[in-house]
Amino acid sequence: MLKEDFDEPEEEFVQTEEEVEHEIERLRLALEVTYREILKLQKQMEETAGAEEAEIFETHLLIIQDTTIFDHVTRQVRDRKMRVDAPFYSYMQRQIQALRGKSDPYLRERFLDIKDVTQRVMRHLRGELLETPMFDHPVIIVAHDLTPSDTVQLDRRMVLAFAVETGSPVSHAAIIARSLGVPAVVRLTGISEQLHSGDPVLLDGDRGVLTAFPSAEALSDLQARQVRAKERRQETDIARDKPAILKNGERVTVGCNAEFLDEVPMIQACGAEEVGLFRTEFLFLARPDAEEGWQERAYREVMDGVAPRRVIFRTLDLGGDKVASGMDAAAEPNPFLGWRGLRLSLGRPEMFRAQLRALLRAGAGRRLGLMFPMVTTVEEVVEARKRVDACLAELSQEGVPPPTELKVGAMIEVPGAALVAAQLAQHVDFFSLGTNDLIQYTLAVDRLNERVADLYQPTHPAVLQLIHRVIQAGNAAGIPVGMCGEMASDFRLVPLLLGLGLRDFSVATAQVARLKQLIRLCDPAACAALAERVLQMDSASEVLTVTLEVAQEQFGRSAQVAAGSSRLMWQD
Ligand code: PEP
Ligand code: MG
Repeated sequence: MLKEDFDEPEEEFVQTEEEVEHEIERLRLALEVTYREILKLQKQMEETAGAEEAEIFETHLLIIQDTTIFDHVTRQVRDRKMRVDAPFYSYMQRQIQALRGKSDPYLRERFLDIKDVTQRVMRHLRGELLETPMFDHPVIIVAHDLTPSDTVQLDRRMVLAFAVETGSPVSHAAIIARSLGVPAVVRLTGISEQLHSGDPVLLDGDRGVLTAFPSAEALSDLQARQVRAKERRQETDIARDKPAILKNGERVTVGCNAEFLDEVPMIQACGAEEVGLFRTEFLFLARPDAEEGWQERAYREVMDGVAPRRVIFRTLDLGGDKVASGMDAAAEPNPFLGWRGLRLSLGRPEMFRAQLRALLRAGAGRRLGLMFPMVTTVEEVVEARKRVDACLAELSQEGVPPPTELKVGAMIEVPGAALVAAQLAQHVDFFSLGTNDLIQYTLAVDRLNERVADLYQPTHPAVLQLIHRVIQAGNAAGIPVGMCGEMASDFRLVPLLLGLGLRDFSVATAQVARLKQLIRLCDPAACAALAERVLQMDSASEVLTVTLEVAQEQFGRSAQVAAGSSRLMWQD
């Protein structure tokens, strides 16, 4: 059901015949997408509630197929050279008013159907996402926001790129875009008001730029850059299967992050040594009713697909911004400080048990990694491990063999967990630094809130001290410490992270080969000297300045380190 009523749109006029035709095409597209959306809802309803219940959508479909709507509105658009929004809205309002006055209760009720269809079409005209958009041709999505559940429902074969008004580079929409190699630009304030469905746009994810109605010159400039980028990718790809070895011969592990089954071919091809983070909640968001058997098959498909590489599955990190339908977590006043991650799994024993059993069954006779998100206390980890042990015992009774190797880890995303890392290390086999959350919780800066984005500082001395502390605690206890947050893929920070002692990175598949290439250029002694210096510094900007200088020295001419962007500019 739609949440909002629309205010009457203002009449807007266009100048040329071409613009008139463009408006008509927008209407055609909005009607078409709405039609397919309703069909899909009808099908879903049929599957979940039965054919009779699904019939309510028949009227919606009939309304949308009524050609008088299209004929009437396009006539107005042509005669008065207008944008379609106002004539469409006022025509539909007139139909609604006419039905409201009927004495027949059946007809009176139909006004609600017309209202619903009107709102759906209006949202498509405004370029806003609704339910599950389906496209039969490639599109660039421009939206106010994309929630993680919006993102998992998109038809990824058809989505060329995203542009959203809100969010941040560490929002889940951006992380998913990176995982899938889909260009994305965030924080384009006002963009969904300025553009209309069907407008041609050019999106440059490398530079974070979206150009509406691009000129021929802009197009050819982009094409030339694409050719250069492809050549550079080929150069990097040659080296992607070589190990990431530092100048002193020390080996660094470079793994990748993933969320979806269809990433398997990219994982195989990217040069990653393992999957350092598989975010299982995205499978769950797409199918919240998934029972143990379905989950087991999905996890096994990932493991078999990427073998012989190991996969570290993160148990469900629901809550925060990752809210499945039917979860009441959304009602919390501060969801990021609420019932999320391991807390939620421990509080829903049946859900957690089904996931652990599915993971252990899928991992039977294989190497398996598991890790828990949002760990805060030692007790939580002890309890979670008990649940793993209980599932292992159950499965053994059922004759399911255990994994040949089972490593159980804790994500360090909460400052409190970082401070008790030495104690936590006694109960786990590895740590994985989730810096996306660690930064937000250390600095009290919502990772999604663009108003405080300047304060989201990976190089803040407090963040670096926590990272350093966790690595030292891991080393002292003899357990590996990885980093799977986006900080690991800000290439400019690679020498600093190496200097802090990090030897295990996990990044989006598209970044693996370049990261390995850059690590090979680094001298660990220079990196350690950098870390020693910055740990004495007072401010994030001071740390960033020297970090960029050292990164430039280490990378030499291979890459140009730029202050304003977390991306490196590659030498052409
Ligand atoms: C993190 O917090 O760094 C992390 C990897 O988890 P997510 O981005 O899914 O919260
Ligand atoms: Mg996290």
